[in-house]
Amino acid sequence: MKIEDLGKRFNIVDAHTHIGSYPIFNVELSADELVKALITYHIRKALVFTYDNKGVEKAVRIHKELYGLVWANPKDAKTIKFLEQHLKDPKFVGVKLHPLLDGYLPTPEVLEEIMCLVKDAGWKVLVHCGHPPFTLPWSYEPLAERFNNIPIVLGHMGHGHIIYINGSLEVAARRKNIYLEPSGMPMHTKILEAVRLLGAERVLWGSDAPFHHHAVELTKLMVAGLSEKELELVLGRNALNLFGLE
Ligand SMILES: [Zn+2]
Repeated sequence: MKIEDLGKRFNIVDAHTHIGSYPIFNVELSADELVKALITYHIRKALVFTYDNKGVEKAVRIHKELYGLVWANPKDAKTIKFLEQHLKDPKFVGVKLHPLLDGYLPTPEVLEEIMCLVKDAGWKVLVHCGHPPFTLPWSYEPLAERFNNIPIVLGHMGHGHIIYINGSLEVAARRKNIYLEPSGMPMHTKILEAVRLLGAERVLWGSDAPFHHHAVELTKLMVAGLSEKELELVLGRNALNLFGLE
């Protein structure tokens, strides 16, 4: 099957995308370009987030297939205010945390205010996971333990480092509220391992566009060796259920 046709068979939701310009990576993507890519691969919906919350707000108002996660930074009061103002906004469905870029350790103490707002709203959290010193899988475990009713998705599930990838599996096996999202993680075999270890309900597909290509990330899923039922869950059903998109 051609990768462009996967979306004709499954209801695909991209749980991890960005818009905007990223000079240090030398990549950029507008909301229009993102939507064009979604159409190419028959991806029905996408979660989008960047540190420019207002840019995301503009995009999700225009494009019905896009939903926002609020970029929340405990060191930046502007983001907390934005979060408070959008807790009832139907086009925002959760929070993105990036302790590496924002420079903090994601402890329950540091994130208390944000997590309590998330909890009251019934929202979910997606975090960047895979780089020292602040975003290793083990760094999120006390947070997952303290807020054990809030689903926390480890975006990149350890990223490119085998010790951190295995660490993500280890932490998720211990904490039932941890979910894994494999964008940018190079090993298709670890996707299958995650599904066998945790159950297909706890793995969500994301592209991390524009840092990674939709075709590459979809191919990883396609060759991972999942059953039809598991593919259906991982490619979209889980994100729809978790973030309440239907
Ligand atoms: Zn990302």
